[in-house]
Amino acid sequence: VRITIMTTAEPHVLAVDVGGTKLAAALVGESGRVLVHREVHTPAAPAGAAGVVAHALIDLIKQTIDGYRPIAAAVASAGPLDSAAGTASPVNIPAWRDFPLVDCVMEASGGLSTALIGDAIAAAVGEQWLGAGTDSAALLGLVVSTGIGGGLVLGGVPFLGPTGNAGHIGHIYADAYMEECPCGARGCVETAASGPSMVRYAHRAGWIGPDARALAESARAGNPVACGAFSRAADALATAVLGAAALCDLDVVVVGGGVAAAGEVLIRPLRERIAHRARMEFVRRVEVRQALLGRQAGLIGAARYALRHQTG
Ligand SMILES: [Zn+2]
Repeated sequence: VRITIMTTAEPHVLAVDVGGTKLAAALVGESGRVLVHREVHTPAAPAGAAGVVAHALIDLIKQTIDGYRPIAAAVASAGPLDSAAGTASPVNIPAWRDFPLVDCVMEASGGLSTALIGDAIAAAVGEQWLGAGTDSAALLGLVVSTGIGGGLVLGGVPFLGPTGNAGHIGHIYADAYMEECPCGARGCVETAASGPSMVRYAHRAGWIGPDARALAESARAGNPVACGAFSRAADALATAVLGAAALCDLDVVVVGGGVAAAGEVLIRPLRERIAHRARMEFVRRVEVRQALLGRQAGLIGAARYALRHQTG
């Protein structure tokens, strides 16, 4: 039966998405159709225990490709990365510092040619290929989640930078009075606009609730503190978007990620801030859109990247 599947399936690639909360793998056809999709929780492992996470990833990949014949692979990972070395040091996976991720995926997949790309860039590539930005000539993908990620796709081509870290828009400077960022700097966009930072801000102002999802519900119900937290996040994100739009002549910004799933409570104030602050005509035309691909954006973008870069 499996032989029949192999011969009838369209040419497909292995896409892998590595994050602090989940590890995902998929087989994606050249049309973008997802043939297989599996995910597991990222095992909690202390610094130095790289093998614990690696074994979970290797098992996941082996199960995903069992019976199939992918022609290439790409892995999207939380950063920072070293694309030349093929290594990743995801901030929220402390067990992995300079972890040889490309070698790991290559070995688990039986020697597939494997490319490495940042997770937010992969999400941007996915949205530009099959999601909310298919008509875009200069797209910024924003991932609003436990951190703020970003990725540029300019003229249909992802802009990675020489080390693979281009697009770290969460660490653009937004406000001198904001708290210290996990990156060590002060005033980063991320310290106002990430889910945990919004919740911390709301807690200090007297809001009681567990997480960003609850905060979004409160904002939808009109709670002024919750609305204030989203408004402050939108203000910091607008700073980032306006800077990127002026720098790159953007036409579309696609906003995705767990916090962005809150929808209008974030998107509306973001659009309002941009409209209020933008002056130059080419900056004013930037359109903010909700992401369409959800959790699969990174996998679909990684697949696109693998298809473009396959050597087999
Ligand atoms: Zn920072």
